[in-house]
Amino acid sequence: MHYVFDPPPQPSIPVAGSSRHFPVHRIYCVGRNYAAHVREMGGNPDRELPFFFLKPASALVAPGCAAAYPPGTTNLHHEVELVVAIGRPAAAISTAQALEVVWGYAVGNDLTRRDLQLAARDKGRPWDFGKSFDESAPTSELHPSNSIGHPSKGGIWLKVNGNERQRSDLEQMIWTVPEIISELSKFYHLVPGDLIFTGTPEGVGPLQVEDRIEAGIERLDTLSHGIRQPT
Ligand code: MN
Repeated sequence: MHYVFDPPPQPSIPVAGSSRHFPVHRIYCVGRNYAAHVREMGGNPDRELPFFFLKPASALVAPGCAAAYPPGTTNLHHEVELVVAIGRPAAAISTAQALEVVWGYAVGNDLTRRDLQLAARDKGRPWDFGKSFDESAPTSELHPSNSIGHPSKGGIWLKVNGNERQRSDLEQMIWTVPEIISELSKFYHLVPGDLIFTGTPEGVGPLQVEDRIEAGIERLDTLSHGIRQPT
């Protein structure tokens, strides 16, 4: 194949305890999956079917690196989330079989231009400008499910400059990981390389340039990253 220019690099996340990387195809994100976060955003947690939005795979930020404060916003927010990595194809898969297609898990920060997201929401417009921007997906190393299992409970938390902002438990998720995979696979042929950010608990809030973020999930990993000057 002769391209007119070199193709962009393949986005990937490092595999914990290994020199290998997991190549990333698409990043799906779940909205409103913890009741207390739904309420803090002014909604009603009534277990309506999960809904999804996407980020480009190029939005990944490697663990330990800093994300640039994005243009077009004065209200960049953090959202700590459990990230599921898909390792086998899945289409219209049942909840009973859904975990069989999981390759592993990571900790992610669904960075959000909250001002743009809320303006779009209030006008019934797409969320892309609020969610799908460059460097909007800092993600930890990936931990294979054949070594850590399938986390369904345990603390999930985020600190900014050492101050705790978010703390909940994976048990508080409205839709479980098997339910999310099953529902999403009704609409997309999931393939190896797809990631799913599974929603954030309450306590979201603003970030500033030079902030240091630590985001963890019990028995999984702690993601550390910075926020740097806009480029
Ligand atoms: Mn989110």
